Amino acid sequence: MSTALDGLRQKIEQVLAFDQPALSVSVVGDQVMVVGDYFLNDEGSAPAPEGPMATFAVRVLFDPAYPSVEPLVYETGGAIPQGRHLNPNNTCCLGVWEQWLVEETDHSVSAFFAGPFRDYFLSQTHYRLHGEWPFGELPHGLDGIVVAYASVLGIDADKKKVVEHLRVFARPGWPRGHWPCPCGNGRRIRACHKIELANLRTAILPAMAKRMLQRIESPH
Ligand SMILES: [Zn+2]
Ligand SMILES: [Zn+2]
Repeated sequence: MSTALDGLRQKIEQVLAFDQPALSVSVVGDQVMVVGDYFLNDEGSAPAPEGPMATFAVRVLFDPAYPSVEPLVYETGGAIPQGRHLNPNNTCCLGVWEQWLVEETDHSVSAFFAGPFRDYFLSQTHYRLHGEWPFGELPHGLDGIVVAYASVLGIDADKKKVVEHLRVFARPGWPRGHWPCPCGNGRRIRACHKIELANLRTAILPAMAKRMLQRIESPH
């Protein structure tokens, strides 16, 4: 067994050991699999005496290249109907992975389970009880990607503008003040959004910009 895979398995086991007694972790092929019942607990607290807010049957597959590769999350108990943030391949739509990578600094397994993973099942539970999404009605699919990337870039959710910005970040040798500003107002970068772009540049490196471009141009 590869030590990288086994190291990841141990890390995941440690994260889940305290408050997720019904999830088991194993190495399957070249991935780490988490399977069982996920207890949606109150935030930041030990398992409550009255039990979890909800329970979901799940299967999660971690690639050894985590966090660069997004884990695949499946709800296996049939509790989530089509149209409520399931992807075409039946995985749970936990939001736009690149947004989490760029906006959050902690990408540990622990941060994943406490963040996008928990938020997903919390949202589903809230929707089931109240018929509305607690974090607002986020668009799904390509529209959701455009909205997420625009938020990362701090611009309007316009696909063309998002792509123009990402193309600037994907170019090696940036920044070049004489390039036209991707905001599209006709000025050069040095006379326009120079500071905003320079600040984002440290968060969105060329490899990440290329990855985002690829995804927005062929979302699935
Ligand atoms: Zn979705
Ligand atoms: Zn500009």
